[in-house]
Amino acid sequence: LLVWHTLLHMTSDVKNGQSAWTRREPVMAFVIPCYNEEAALHVTADVLREKMRQLESSHAVAQGSFILFVDDGSSDKTWDVIEALHEDNPALFHGVKLAHNRGHQNALFAGLMQAYRLEVDAVVSMDADLQDDPDAVDDMVREYLQGAEIVYGVRDNRDTDTAFKRGTAHAFYSLMKWLGTETVPDHADYRLMSRAALSALSQYKESNLFLRGLVPSLGFKTAKVYYKRGTRVAGESKYPLKKMVSFAIEGVTSFSTKPLTMITGLGLFSVFVGIVMLVYTLISVFSGHAVAGWGSMMCSLWILGGFILLALGVTGEYIAKIYLEVKARPRYIIEQTL
Ligand code: UDP
Ligand code: MG
Repeated sequence: LLVWHTLLHMTSDVKNGQSAWTRREPVMAFVIPCYNEEAALHVTADVLREKMRQLESSHAVAQGSFILFVDDGSSDKTWDVIEALHEDNPALFHGVKLAHNRGHQNALFAGLMQAYRLEVDAVVSMDADLQDDPDAVDDMVREYLQGAEIVYGVRDNRDTDTAFKRGTAHAFYSLMKWLGTETVPDHADYRLMSRAALSALSQYKESNLFLRGLVPSLGFKTAKVYYKRGTRVAGESKYPLKKMVSFAIEGVTSFSTKPLTMITGLGLFSVFVGIVMLVYTLISVFSGHAVAGWGSMMCSLWILGGFILLALGVTGEYIAKIYLEVKARPRYIIEQTL
């Protein structure tokens, strides 16, 4: 019995040891949210099929890796295309169809959780229009094999963007930084996540999803891979200005309660102005050239206004707390136990 036990321990030690130094090639899934992408999907499927073949034959990923398309409630033939691909090669092409259009972030999350349920070791999320250069996956997988749990695809230039998009993007990253939310500049949702990172992500129950803020807040060992972002292969952008703006507002409000608590500062400022006016009024009264009625009006306006803002700010602080509680985010994520 003793010998048996020792042997058993030894083998399990070797197993654990191995996985700690070098990782085995992962069973990997591409997760692709698609909204009205019938025009681009065939090209994308061809390119990714070839990419997967390459990765498998170079033993970068294990057999059984697959491509998962999430149809985000498209109104065109996107789902028909996905069905046809699946029929053609059921092992390689998987599909999830959402009943409504829930937006890029929710569609992506749905795909990530589906891949997690299917027990993959890693996922790579990517847009359906091939703007994210699939060749960067080679580097991502290399980083994964060297132990990174999250690998960010970062675009190394913004040449293909309009000056407007470039400007607004930079303003957005600076705003997020100022609000205290960690984001990775010039990283869209092109990233690799390991099973451990997916498991952590699955603990977040909030329905206002902003993955570009959420994923960096998970922690873990991360890496960056640089790539050139191309132009859309077919179809047109599903992110008109209106969606971009609501995406940015989502980013700010789902991570920061600073706008709420800023009211307090505003209130304090208003009270301060009121007090300065009070002092000024008193001085002018004593020096004998006070304007009748001005002092009482202005001082009460600013001081009272300030108190009202302060009261709102205090209420805001509590609402902020309630908001954070309601999200029910996990308090911590355990990366490893010994
Ligand atoms: N997308 C989605 N649901 C939406 C809008 C977009 O799933 O409501 C997908 C879209 O199919 C694409 C990705 O999100 O795979 C990025 O969208 P797009 O390429 O149109 O954005 P852009 O690159 O122009 O910013
Ligand atoms: Mg695109």
